[in-house]
Amino acid sequence: MSDPDEIAVVGAGLAGCLLACFLARRGLRVALYERRPDPRTGAVERGRSINLALSERGLDALRRIGLDKQVMADALPMRGRVIHPVHGELDFQPYSHDGQRAINSISRSALNNALLTAAAEQPGVRIAFDHRLTGLDPRTGEMTYETPQGVVQEKAAVVLGADGAGSAVRAQLLAHAGLTESLDFLDYGYKELRIPARDGEFALAPDALHIWPRGTSMMIALPNPDRSFTCTLFWPNSGTSSFASIGSPAAIERHFTEHYPDLIELAPTLVEDYRHNPVGLLGTVRCTPWHVGGTAALIGDAAHAIVPFYGQGANCAFEDVVELDRCLDETAGDWTRALPLYEERRRDNTEAIAKMALANFVEMRDKVASPVFQLQKKVEHALERALPGRYVSRYELVSFSTVPYAQVWRRVRRQHRVVGAAVGAGALLAVGALLKGRRGA
Ligand code: FAD
Repeated sequence: MSDPDEIAVVGAGLAGCLLACFLARRGLRVALYERRPDPRTGAVERGRSINLALSERGLDALRRIGLDKQVMADALPMRGRVIHPVHGELDFQPYSHDGQRAINSISRSALNNALLTAAAEQPGVRIAFDHRLTGLDPRTGEMTYETPQGVVQEKAAVVLGADGAGSAVRAQLLAHAGLTESLDFLDYGYKELRIPARDGEFALAPDALHIWPRGTSMMIALPNPDRSFTCTLFWPNSGTSSFASIGSPAAIERHFTEHYPDLIELAPTLVEDYRHNPVGLLGTVRCTPWHVGGTAALIGDAAHAIVPFYGQGANCAFEDVVELDRCLDETAGDWTRALPLYEERRRDNTEAIAKMALANFVEMRDKVASPVFQLQKKVEHALERALPGRYVSRYELVSFSTVPYAQVWRRVRRQHRVVGAAVGAGALLAVGALLKGRRGA
């Protein structure tokens, strides 16, 4: 039964559940609508990332609702990357200059369920599962949902779309409120594979994110609490070396033996996983505006989905929620002022992380294996130690701080210019000294 004074949150994913908690803490009545059945009672959807990396921005949001300790109890800290070359030794590259800071591998479903339970326990929150939004009048707050019992009409004072990258709320704003969008899909997809526990133990070092950089393709693996690893293979969708180019068990085995030889032994169900697991899409969603007056808005992936190469999509969605809550504080709960303020403050930041996430794909796929990159990282960590607080790497600013992404982007460009100039000046001095030495010789 809908209540026209309620705030409707569409989508009980990561952003939607967190948002419901924040709004309920303000004393608002919230209706959380989710197209799926209650995930706490059913099987996990296949094809969505099984685990994800939670870092400081996400943790900061969880701390504000007192959920950080519960979520972190099952987290597996990853202090750096382990690079798997085709042949040769593994190489550990710490994420921070002191080797201590870590991003955290978390089960997506456990995180979602913890947030869902936290939302359900808040007074004033009701959750309607099996409700798929199919229609919305953004100015009146009238919504249409498909449910197993048939079509139902609901109404709310404000409708917030937290319904993910393929957002139905965004589609409704596109149809009825002059929103424009751009969807930039990569010609890469992703597929999940599994490395099970070996003799009850992790088959690889559990305190790191594992990367197999292969130039045009790449695979990563994150540890799970059951001592398995979930691998994600990123590969072009079509072409001579792509998801489309292999299908038979023999071809799959041949491909992995050639390019990922250590995986063959680690992943006994590789061929089966490869054949059964779907290929997911990767892309960047941009749209404008994110809000319609004070009655409708988008949040999280619905407003700005990004590619997953910085492990920041969910962290960024959580920051949206914190910022919207702050805007409601600053406007005394006036939605007509809070929604534009939220959009103004978040837009540049989400654009900056979208760009950094794309850049990180090139870094992970190509650069991490190169000796030049490894030297650069060592120089960067030395600079961080020599100039504490004055030189901070992009990775640390993105993953271990809450400095707004747009500021990170500008600061890192400045740092690179200064270091580039210093290296250039150093190189000139070195060349000068060399020439002088030659002339003298
Ligand atoms: P979602 O999590 O997609 O939730 C949307 C919810 O809305 C879902 O529950 C859905 O069922 C519901 N819904 C959809 N349509 C409707 C409808 N019509 N009516 C009602 N409900 C609806 N982020 C990180 O921070 N770290 C990582 O390491 C990371 N790794 C990733 C790896 C991969 C391969 C991918 C694809 C993404 C990764 N991300 C990561 C990104 C992260 O998953 C997303 O940014 C995050 O899930 C966004 O949360 P959301 O709540 O906005 O959307």
